Amino acid sequence: MKLDFDVIVVGGGIVGSSAALCLARGGQRVALLERDFCGSHSSGVNYGGVRRQGRPLSQLPLSMRAHAIWGQLREWIGIDGEYTRSGHLKLARSAADFASLQDYAKRTVDFDLRLQLLDRAALRERFPWVGDIAVGASYCPEDGHANPRLVSPAFAQAARRHGAEVIEQCAVQQVEHDGQHFILHTGNGQLYRAPWLLNCAGAWSASLAERFGEAVPLSAAHPAMLVTEPLPLFMTASTGVEGGGIYARQVARGNCILGGGRGFALTSTTARPGQAAVLEILRNATELYPALTGAQAIRTWSGTEGYLPDDEPVIGPSLTQPGLLHGFGFAGAGFQIGPAAGEALAQCILDGSPAHSLAAFSISRFQQPPHQKENLS
Ligand SMILES: Cc1cc2nc3c(=O)[nH]c(=O)nc-3n(C[C@H](O)[C@H](O)[C@H](O)COP(=O)(O)OP(=O)(O)OC[C@H]3O[C@@H](n4cnc5c(N)ncnc54)[C@H](O)[C@@H]3O)c2cc1C
Repeated sequence: MKLDFDVIVVGGGIVGSSAALCLARGGQRVALLERDFCGSHSSGVNYGGVRRQGRPLSQLPLSMRAHAIWGQLREWIGIDGEYTRSGHLKLARSAADFASLQDYAKRTVDFDLRLQLLDRAALRERFPWVGDIAVGASYCPEDGHANPRLVSPAFAQAARRHGAEVIEQCAVQQVEHDGQHFILHTGNGQLYRAPWLLNCAGAWSASLAERFGEAVPLSAAHPAMLVTEPLPLFMTASTGVEGGGIYARQVARGNCILGGGRGFALTSTTARPGQAAVLEILRNATELYPALTGAQAIRTWSGTEGYLPDDEPVIGPSLTQPGLLHGFGFAGAGFQIGPAAGEALAQCILDGSPAHSLAAFSISRFQQPPHQKENLS
């Protein structure tokens, strides 16, 4: 027996779940098929940074739309998800890094990020808990953080409340197209059929794209994370560092969540942070946040995230298969932008085109011109 829908979404991360939610709200019969549990991979285990600051300019229109969605999170998913607009403080450890923050502030002036540049004295005065190693910072007052373990599954639950069929522990194993419909064979023995298919399978999206002739150089990587015991509250903003290396935030209960470096894959779906990355986070942490000196890390973890060589996602229609849309490769920064990416994919179906241009994220950037393909064969 085939189960018929208007749209099938593969992958119940924040991108697929928010797409399913928007489609269900738009009156589509939607099936959201998730191999494990919705929000159990990157979307549920990430650091929880909800920031626009630091993104490439290409992402800022979509990121600004996501910012508006985050501002209405309770209306979208029924919970606040511990989302707080704490501000995001990007620290510079050298004059060159501070110059780079100044340059970013200039280049993004049209995007209403309201960045505030703080020299050493201003930084000390406003954020006295930052270590002396920081020589300046850029502060984005309306960026913040949230609890991914609450937020991401809640998008799938909201989709279900709006009528989407959310089917967990349902791995898509094979996909065919009969000229009119996609037919999906799943591990639970069912066949699902629909004229539209969304490929939102995170780090595992390449095989579905390749199935329709769109090979992409998607690789998996595993940011390392740790959380400390609860500490007296001191960190009044979510933080990052120009040039990368470490990011940190403190939740209302007092635990500090820190990320940085790369872990490793244990299997194709599980990852560990690894000792080297954890030690590097701790070393950086005490320099940047002296209050963490001697703090106990009570848990470490990682996740599996998809990266493309230019660190930009693929969002938008397939160029080879009508009805197929891709949304993957968010390169360690898809939690904030995910709801807007999902909404944009839904708009492609509901409205015929997205409200914000997706040209920068087209899969075409990885496709070889036909003559080159011929040369290879
Ligand atoms: C440790 C870590 C820290 C991060 N920190 C941040 C941060 O602070 N801020 C930020 O903005 N971003 C952050 N990110 C990135 C962010 O989490 C991701 O970009 C985002 O969650 C990607 O969402 P997604 O829906 O594309 O993918 P995922 O959440 O990976 O969801 C894809 C889903 O597809 C399912 N799937 C795959 N194959 C199949 C199949 N064949 N059949 C059915 N289902 C399938 C998977 O089981 C998975 O649940 C971080 C990522 C990690 C790993």
